[in-house]
Amino acid sequence: MRIVVANVTEERRQLELAVPAERLAERLGDDDESELRAGGPIQASLEIYRVGEDLVISGTARTHLRAVCARCVEPFDLPLEAPVEMFLAEKARAAAEGFGEDDVALATFTGEEVDLAPLCFDQLLLALPSRLLCREACRGLCPQCGDNLNLTTCGCRPATIPGTGPLASLAEQLTARGRHG
Ligand SMILES: [Zn+2]
Ligand SMILES: [Zn+2]
Repeated sequence: MRIVVANVTEERRQLELAVPAERLAERLGDDDESELRAGGPIQASLEIYRVGEDLVISGTARTHLRAVCARCVEPFDLPLEAPVEMFLAEKARAAAEGFGEDDVALATFTGEEVDLAPLCFDQLLLALPSRLLCREACRGLCPQCGDNLNLTTCGCRPATIPGTGPLASLAEQLTARGRHG
């Protein structure tokens, strides 16, 4: 959604923003292989107002993604919600004033309009969990038969790696003795 900068006044204005899922899909590089796909539009409730030559936006953005669980590899619905608290400065002015380049709460714009959609995308992506899990207690896949352990108990025994565990050194000694004796 584009905002005409000149139309923003010091009076706080409430905006309801809806960005179609396709735009989020573009941003995510959405294809059949992606672990993260757009699951719905972005909806944002924002307040916008002017402070001197700059703009402030403040509110919340939310959306749904289709994610793939890192443990069981099943797709799941991932609701995301993020605060959007940004200071928007005209790019040349921000540079001239020495505003912090790496200040995450600062965004710059050029020209007479600002597109608020990318700002909302960025804040939502920052809110992604570090591990994508369908649920915290996901039991994942059996390392032996590959069954989804959330859905079935496959009956495979837990994998034992030869040469480890408390009895390994005893077994080693016994075989060594057998060999020599
Ligand atoms: Zn899972
Ligand atoms: Zn199994």
